[in-house]
Amino acid sequence: MEKKELLYEGKAKKVYATEDPDYVIVSYKDDATAFDGLKKGTIAGKGVINNRMSNYLCRLLEKHGVKTHYVEELNDRETVVKKVSIVPLEVIIRNISAGSFAKRYGVEEGIVFDSPTIEFSYKNDDLHDPLINEYHALALKLAAKEEIDEIIKTAFRINEVLKEYFLSLDVKLVDFKLEFGRLADGTVVLADEISPDTCRFWDAKTNEKLDKDRFRRDLGGVEDAYNEMMKRVFGE
Ligand code: UDP
Repeated sequence: MEKKELLYEGKAKKVYATEDPDYVIVSYKDDATAFDGLKKGTIAGKGVINNRMSNYLCRLLEKHGVKTHYVEELNDRETVVKKVSIVPLEVIIRNISAGSFAKRYGVEEGIVFDSPTIEFSYKNDDLHDPLINEYHALALKLAAKEEIDEIIKTAFRINEVLKEYFLSLDVKLVDFKLEFGRLADGTVVLADEISPDTCRFWDAKTNEKLDKDRFRRDLGGVEDAYNEMMKRVFGE
């Protein structure tokens, strides 16, 4: 499949049309942003790592019965995915307190929850992605009740699969963000990426951060962290 016109350019990815209206090609960039786009930078090699890791995780999830947008990896940075219309919700699952959760509720990072939590943000740049609950999502007609129920069930299922997988690599899956999309026939599938940009990964032994928090918080060793995650997943 070949890239046609550029449909969309986001912070970390470009999306191109293909000759088939049901498929698009995603191209991963090394650009990184944080804090609502206020902080900008590049993380050398990130595009390759996020592309390959995200595809690997989609294939793993498919094996566990989770429907995803993934079709075919074309090269290190480019992947064919099913064209979806994105459900304008960021779905966040947490296993351990960190980031905005710790800040919002005034707790330290690193508290292991008895059971995972879920929360939604309304994907809307002008409003800075406000936190909403599922009733708000329904009221705003962002998704139908059945879709939200399906998204919640699938998100927790994804967490179970990923948590176990990453633990086998000596990595704690602290929290992560998912996005879902609708295919032309209305089927809801996992879309977007799963990568160190969208997950918090802590080394299981040392709690060292192996994700985008190194960039957000100027901790240094950003590329090293991404490369370390790549090594754990692919052994290279
Ligand atoms: N996250 C993301 N995109 C966003 C917001 C959050 O991928 O726009 C991910 C983030 O990497 C983390 C999880 O979702 O793994 C929870 O993020 P949190 O709400 O704690 O916000 P943050 O502290 O990242 O601003």
